[in-house]
Amino acid sequence: MKNGDTMYKIARIEIYIKDQLVESPIDLIEDILSMLYKNGQILINYIVEKHDGFYNATVTTTDDDSLDEIYFNKYIRDILEKVEYSYEIISDDAFSSDSCHCKDHSSYVLGTYYGDDSSPVLCGDCGKEIPLIKIPYLFGEEEHFSILSYQRMYNSVVDVWMNSLSDRFTKRQLTHFDSQLTKRGIEICKELQSKTEKPVYFLLPVGEFDINKKAENVEVCPKCGEQVSTLKSTECVDKVCNHCRLGFINQHMFDF
Ligand SMILES: [Zn+2]
Ligand SMILES: [Zn+2]
Repeated sequence: MKNGDTMYKIARIEIYIKDQLVESPIDLIEDILSMLYKNGQILINYIVEKHDGFYNATVTTTDDDSLDEIYFNKYIRDILEKVEYSYEIISDDAFSSDSCHCKDHSSYVLGTYYGDDSSPVLCGDCGKEIPLIKIPYLFGEEEHFSILSYQRMYNSVVDVWMNSLSDRFTKRQLTHFDSQLTKRGIEICKELQSKTEKPVYFLLPVGEFDINKKAENVEVCPKCGEQVSTLKSTECVDKVCNHCRLGFINQHMFDF
């Protein structure tokens, strides 16, 4: 989702290596940044400057306070014992969209937008994305690895589709309620639903591949055949099946 007000921030992290004899300082820096990424605190597109005894990383982070200690997991707390860590927020991220500011969410939607590397979890009330640091950890992890690897897998399948390689396979993966890719997404939705005790819908694009179909014309769920309904208010989904927790949307999925 690339429109709306700016929300994400550009930040500069400064990392001093305490033990100057550490064998490979750059590996240590890479580990720290990769842990912050997997924990939902920064996006993957960071750059790192090497200085005498310290490193600066310019990163995209989700909010003014999202690099604070309270969001660290145990891996980050452990690794940061080896360094001195500080950060400052430099500016808003000009390319990012506004994210959800709702206090509570009556439902969630898992909707991956092609090319996005921020959160694929959307608020069912305002339709905007919810930064991963505001989402509970899933599957016993202490990071958001499952959601992020699902997102990467989804983007890879769209890449293959956009390059017209294996159209039939990719179309099925992206649009069918029972494809392997959808099944993985639904597993994530079920887990998030059990953690939040709120409905979590899996978003399927309608009409992307067949322009005669429109999500607003979907009357029954393609999976169970039950009547679909409209989720109140939101722009991120047009119709939902409450039985299967599937959501249907017109072709916004590949906007970029
Ligand atoms: Zn919201
Ligand atoms: Zn259904």
